[in-house]
Amino acid sequence: MAPPTTHVLRVSRLPAAFLRARPGEGQPTPREVLTAAAAPFGFSGELAVLHSARAALIEMESAAAAEAMLAHHAEVPLSFGGRAVVLEPSTERVQPRPHSEHSAAAVRAECERCVCSLVAQLERREERENAVRRKQRHAAHLAVMGRAFASHSFEKSVCWPHFQRAGLGGCDRSGCKLSHAGPVRFCCMPPRLRTFHERETYPYAHRESSAQKLAVNAALTRHAAAHRVGPRCVVLDGPGGGTARALLASEELGTRAELVHSPNFCTPTYAELGRTASGGTPFLGSLRAFLDSRRCPREGHAQPRVQPNGGSAGVLAASPLFGVVSADYCCRCVRRDLRRLCEESLNIHFHPPPPPPPLLRRSLYAGRHDVELSPVHDLITLFGSQLLGPRAVLAITLARPDADKGRFPHEVRAAVAAAVGEPDAASGDAAAAGETDAAVLCGAVSRLAAHSNFRSELCESFDFEGTFVQIWRLHTAGG
Ligand SMILES: [Zn+2]
Ligand SMILES: [Zn+2]
Repeated sequence: MAPPTTHVLRVSRLPAAFLRARPGEGQPTPREVLTAAAAPFGFSGELAVLHSARAALIEMESAAAAEAMLAHHAEVPLSFGGRAVVLEPSTERVQPRPHSEHSAAAVRAECERCVCSLVAQLERREERENAVRRKQRHAAHLAVMGRAFASHSFEKSVCWPHFQRAGLGGCDRSGCKLSHAGPVRFCCMPPRLRTFHERETYPYAHRESSAQKLAVNAALTRHAAAHRVGPRCVVLDGPGGGTARALLASEELGTRAELVHSPNFCTPTYAELGRTASGGTPFLGSLRAFLDSRRCPREGHAQPRVQPNGGSAGVLAASPLFGVVSADYCCRCVRRDLRRLCEESLNIHFHPPPPPPPLLRRSLYAGRHDVELSPVHDLITLFGSQLLGPRAVLAITLARPDADKGRFPHEVRAAVAAAVGEPDAASGDAAAAGETDAAVLCGAVSRLAAHSNFRSELCESFDFEGTFVQIWRLHTAGG
């Protein structure tokens, strides 16, 4: 039996633009247009688009249908996209096509398989490169630490764990011979006991240039200028120095890079801030170590002149009192996660699912195990230090604790009560537990401020997803 070759028509010289149309792009696809053109004459439903030949094969229901179409287009030339095409009988065969739905599923499965294996390959390559990078990063970390602390001497007779763990009752070693007598300065703690990170943990790309952060920086600068504060500032900032930059850009505030202190315990960020200098003067260490170091008599602990590049950072001629204190405690390890990226952007799913990225966000209750990182103890230190100018602006950004983490408002209140030397007049834990973190923080600031003879006025607060920001104006009761 002869194959039904006479039913097939070949359309050639199809315009390239016509062949480019893809499903879902608004334009009908070549297959749809060709089907519509053949349908009136008796189209069998079998069609092949030969992209490389810029042609198509159409199988008609019968030889008569093929002839009818040929006859019609002999009079009315067939054209697509404004260009005439050639229609002629063909002896070729249209290869049967798998059912389109089945094909879509198969294509999708194949794509998923390809993407997954590509990701696995990239991950293996990245793992090898990361190992090299980790080594380099660690070497750079040690080099920065070495330069920053080369000539420093540290307190060796103090039982540091006792002060680090003050929130949990202090030293638990029986017969500990080291000194438990305070107060101590965290800048005098040997660096190996302190917190330093060798990689950046601040979500630079996500948060520092975000509209939220810009709004907070604008509000901070506006309040500082309106409140006519002094030019010395301390900012807990990201590697781009966004907040420091905003403060430095304000003409009304009239501050200078050497008066804007940026403590940071990430060595790469510290080095980066030192390189650019547009983000103020970096200090290697936590905010707590920085505050403690301001009046530390030990050589170099205030780090005013030490720069990552070994240069000099100018002099500390202006008043040592702070006009602006801005602490953004929200840092978060952002790991470039290929699997997560694929899941989000391509809607492709991995088995097992990728683990969530590690979080390192500081909530109001951070630092229970390490006082050096406790926002509450930073506030206690700040107000107790007499480092605040007679007029000052204070801004605090904190993460909300994760849903599965506990809240410890009573511990915050107890720490504040101990600092101001008054019993906690709280209406009990039950009442405190009902308070929001913002309210607990606000209560702590107003109590600490009042105890240091400051009037505090909460002048702005931001409520973001996952974080909140509060800004206060402070002035001495007489000022
Ligand atoms: Zn001890
Ligand atoms: Zn010190």
